[in-house]
Amino acid sequence: MEYAQILQNMSLEEIRAVVEILQKSSDSYIYIFDLDTDTFMMTSRMQVRFPFEEDVIRNATAALQKVIYPSDYNKVREDIVRCTSGEQEFHAIEYRWMDRDNRIVWISSKSTVIRGAGGHRLLVGRVTELGKEAKADNITGLRREIRFQYDAEEILRDRPETIRYMMRIGIDNFKEINEKEGPEAGDNVLRELADCIVAAVDPKVDVYRLMADEFIIVDAFSAAEVDVQAIYNEIRNNVAETVRNKEYSCFYTVSAGVMQDGFESRSAEEILKLTEFALNQAKRNGKNQMALFDREAYDGYLRRLNIRRLMRQDINDNFRGFQVFFQPIISTKDYTLIGAEALLRWGCEQYGNVSPAVFIPILEESGLIIPVGKYVMWQAARTCRKWREIIPHFHVNVNLSYVQMHKSDLIEDVERCIKEVGIPPESLVLELTESGYIETDSRIKSLFKDLKEKNIDLALDDFGTGYSNMRYLKEIQATTVKIDRSFVVQALKNDHDYNIINHIIDMVHSLGFSVCMEGIEEEDELNKMMETKPDMIQGYFFGKPSPADQFEEQFLHTTSFL
Ligand code: C2E
Ligand code: MG
Ligand code: MG
Repeated sequence: MEYAQILQNMSLEEIRAVVEILQKSSDSYIYIFDLDTDTFMMTSRMQVRFPFEEDVIRNATAALQKVIYPSDYNKVREDIVRCTSGEQEFHAIEYRWMDRDNRIVWISSKSTVIRGAGGHRLLVGRVTELGKEAKADNITGLRREIRFQYDAEEILRDRPETIRYMMRIGIDNFKEINEKEGPEAGDNVLRELADCIVAAVDPKVDVYRLMADEFIIVDAFSAAEVDVQAIYNEIRNNVAETVRNKEYSCFYTVSAGVMQDGFESRSAEEILKLTEFALNQAKRNGKNQMALFDREAYDGYLRRLNIRRLMRQDINDNFRGFQVFFQPIISTKDYTLIGAEALLRWGCEQYGNVSPAVFIPILEESGLIIPVGKYVMWQAARTCRKWREIIPHFHVNVNLSYVQMHKSDLIEDVERCIKEVGIPPESLVLELTESGYIETDSRIKSLFKDLKEKNIDLALDDFGTGYSNMRYLKEIQATTVKIDRSFVVQALKNDHDYNIINHIIDMVHSLGFSVCMEGIEEEDELNKMMETKPDMIQGYFFGKPSPADQFEEQFLHTTSFL
């Protein structure tokens, strides 16, 4: 009997049952389109992927119009009309659909016109996503990411509890290999590493190559708990041996990020994100090692991302949520107010007031410190102008981030600010935290020179916390050294540190710089530290950072702070 005839004797439901079975072993989406009744029947997998309301659609032409990319619609329609009219017996066309997220998906649709029950003309065929064709990797011989997504999706849906672990592996210096040794050497390394990984796991465990230089192992097979560290060690040893055998012609190491639980109700895409986070953690920890996925660290990372998003919104909303506080700086000569440090504050509904120790690094990483830094400078300059009407020599200190020096026109910004606000340059002090940059970066050095020529003072902030180096003082042409509270706390605890701080202050003075001591909280701290003869003091003892209006009320008219 002819196949066509068999089909004519089958009900549509029977044909659909066969199609659903076939769908299980195909990555394409199989469909039946009854041209005579305008009914489109698809497999459930197709309906999950594309925005069809049901898997049987009675008014197919209209429903397809919603899924087909608008400018492709006429082309497709004409082709189907030719099938309906009997002009052609075969439908084969590549065009675009829209998926459930409204993203464009290139597909190839192929089908044949056959006669079904009651003599209806049926188009029976399949839709294949063209972007998913490259399922195997010719370099490593492994399956590719798209295959991982198919397989993982299925395991995650049907039996997540069987997953022992997923390990994502990356080469620590792949970019360097490609750049220095050429792409062919890079391909060789990928091949070698694929072998090293495959050799370390049971043949039944799946290994896939992800994009670039990354691989993922999926063990949903082993019966008992698996020692993931041992597996990683074996891969690492295999790599080291390969490198040795090749006489170090190309040196590389590998890191890994591992998930062992928490697979339930996650998508393959999420798993890729989480394992990527773990892998990056291993690299951040120093590379050539393995890291387990750390839920808490990941939550912290998501929180920082969220804070960044919220701050960006606030910046675009005229710096809503940001505020500049001021903390008094007192002269030790006569205990009068001579200036203030501008300190940034930020808060939001979700997290309340967030510490600068948390949000400043986020602003720096994202470059958002550039607009925010300008905002602080302008607020500080305007406030300073106002307060100079009461204290003529009042100055305001503004903290500066290295990102602002590297990536913005700092000199221009500062000049425009003091000119437009109308304050003399010497009333603005820029505070800079010491760091290794200064020594190496010639652009930054010339920037210091420019600032000096423009009469803008620099203060070296947080002295004593890390990179304390007397030579910097000259390099950055600073006028003031700010001694950090942690140094003060140490000095109050033991004589040795006290002597050090005493000597440092002497030395700073003899080099012609002045000293501001930060973080004096109590009277006995003040008394003890005054013996070291600082020129200025900033600390809770004299006043906490406060909003401008409060500062005015509390400090601006105080004649002596003792
Ligand atoms: P910093 O520049 O060293 O500022 C001094 C910090 O010490 C401030 O912390 C201040 O509130 C705190 N402090 C002052 N006196 C005392 C005291 O007696 N005891 C104690 N325990 N702490 C005291 P804050 O406001 O939390 O700022 C932290 C850091 O955030 C600042 O350290 C600065 O590095 C950064 N920062 C603040 N505002 C800005 C800004 O506008 N731009 C940039 N780039 N960084 C900023
Ligand atoms: Mg400071
Ligand atoms: Mg400081």
